[in-house]
Amino acid sequence: MLVEIETKIRKAEEALKKIHYSQEQISAREFHDYTTGETFSGDTTTISDVLGNKFLMFHELVEMSELKKMGIKINKRTLMESPEPTIYTAHFTAMEQELNYALLRKDFSWIRTRLQQHKTSVLENDQHLPEELRPKAEEILAKFNKLIATLTQSRLLVSCSCYGFCSVNVYPNSSLTKGLKGLGV
Ligand SMILES: [Zn+2]
Repeated sequence: MLVEIETKIRKAEEALKKIHYSQEQISAREFHDYTTGETFSGDTTTISDVLGNKFLMFHELVEMSELKKMGIKINKRTLMESPEPTIYTAHFTAMEQELNYALLRKDFSWIRTRLQQHKTSVLENDQHLPEELRPKAEEILAKFNKLIATLTQSRLLVSCSCYGFCSVNVYPNSSLTKGLKGLGV
């Protein structure tokens, strides 16, 4: 398994370079122990889930890097023994970088899925979330929701064949847009 992890880490590192993220070196052993260790949140994501998804691989590598930068050792007990604000700070940085990478790959459905999870599991139902970090969690949701809305809107405009006359103040759900769609524009 360590060989497979090593290969996946190398691949994820290539992705990290694309968004110019400066990472700490993470060994396959550290990666394995961190993702199979006990969690205080009861997170049911398995190491196979992570290894099978490029965005989750990316997320975990950033999270471990951020923890190392804050002087935390990476092992099976990291999540149980580190201060919760430290864990959440690393997780939120990982989430932002993961979503940046998904933006780069134009994977909007992944961003929507992750924002929904973030909203329900962290913002609405996580009793461990330190109150001082709630604004950061809300900022991530608002920022990426806005980006998604803007990008979806510009896609709509690009697909519109009116040669730009509707490119000012037209939003996906506005009556003008609906009207244009109704006319087959
Ligand atoms: Zn995380």
